[in-house]
Amino acid sequence: GISVYPDDASDLDTLLKNADTAMYEAKEKGRNNFQFFQHQMNDAANARYELANSLRRALRQNEFELYYQPQFRNQDRTLSGVEALIRWQDPERGLIPPNHFLPFAEESGLIHAINDWVITTACTQARQWVDAGLFTDCRVAINISGQNVNFKKLSRRILEVLEQTGLAPHHLEIELTERVMMENTDDAVESLQRFKEMGIAIAIDDFGTGYSALSHLQLFPLTTLKIDKSFVQNISKENNSIALLHSIVGIAKSFELKVIAEGVETEEQLQVLDTIACDELQGYLFSRPIPGKQLEQGLRTGQFTPPSR
Ligand code: C2E
Ligand code: CA
Ligand code: CA
Repeated sequence: GISVYPDDASDLDTLLKNADTAMYEAKEKGRNNFQFFQHQMNDAANARYELANSLRRALRQNEFELYYQPQFRNQDRTLSGVEALIRWQDPERGLIPPNHFLPFAEESGLIHAINDWVITTACTQARQWVDAGLFTDCRVAINISGQNVNFKKLSRRILEVLEQTGLAPHHLEIELTERVMMENTDDAVESLQRFKEMGIAIAIDDFGTGYSALSHLQLFPLTTLKIDKSFVQNISKENNSIALLHSIVGIAKSFELKVIAEGVETEEQLQVLDTIACDELQGYLFSRPIPGKQLEQGLRTGQFTPPSR
């Protein structure tokens, strides 16, 4: 990181600080790289600094909230589980969707504390629903992401939380993308194997996007394949999207994986997913992600019992 006297600063401290900012930028751009300081870098650095501070505050002051989106068995349309999706209730800016802060949390390493919070909150909530007799055959699915997820630490944490909350492992599902699993292959395989043996479900999320490889299905111990919503939303009779979906389901079945489709919005998509024997369904057609209280209300009033087909 390079900053030049006297253009960038007139005192030593500022000069060094600016060189540091430029270095951050250089690191962002990858290895073997240098950057000259530019004044707009300060704006970006300040914004990052502020966001990191607000995220730490959010964790401390419990400003995060889990929403839950119902998932249904295709066969009888009973509730098979819910996916926990994080929201940030910022006191000034209101409800912030995950895509607006998770990428930064991942970049800055704060994601690990967030993952931890999600595991604890989701398991605590699920245990309450199980105890109330509302969640008998259901799972709560949590998303784990971040660069360099430490699978040894993660599995220790999950086992700890299961023990503390008393949630049975078969009520838990972990959703991971291929990227997350690939960054720490050895430990991931070992930890996931242990989870699988315990009865925790393991889903490969966003399947078919990014650098998907069929060999990943062989390498990682999985129970579930989640078809990315882009495939579902691309369904049309005019192109070969249905053939593609058919193939994905076929591959999943040959690996003995359960298949769940996300992003189901229309009756037409539903019909197609039905014909290709997709096991489970999730999407706005059934329900948006909703706060825990609202989900519980639905469970109590039988809103999630099978509608007639
Ligand atoms: P994802 O894991 O692929 O989650 C599915 C996303 O699709 C959710 O967005 C959900 O609200 C949205 N969705 C569900 N049904 C439909 C539909 O029918 N149509 C459309 N267009 N969208 C639908 P959301 O909640 O904004 O989450 C975005 C992403 O943020 C998630 O994608 C996941 O990668 C990440 N994320 C969310 N919560 C967490 C969390 O607690 N921890 C971690 N690590 N990542 C999370
Ligand atoms: Ca997911
Ligand atoms: Ca997904």
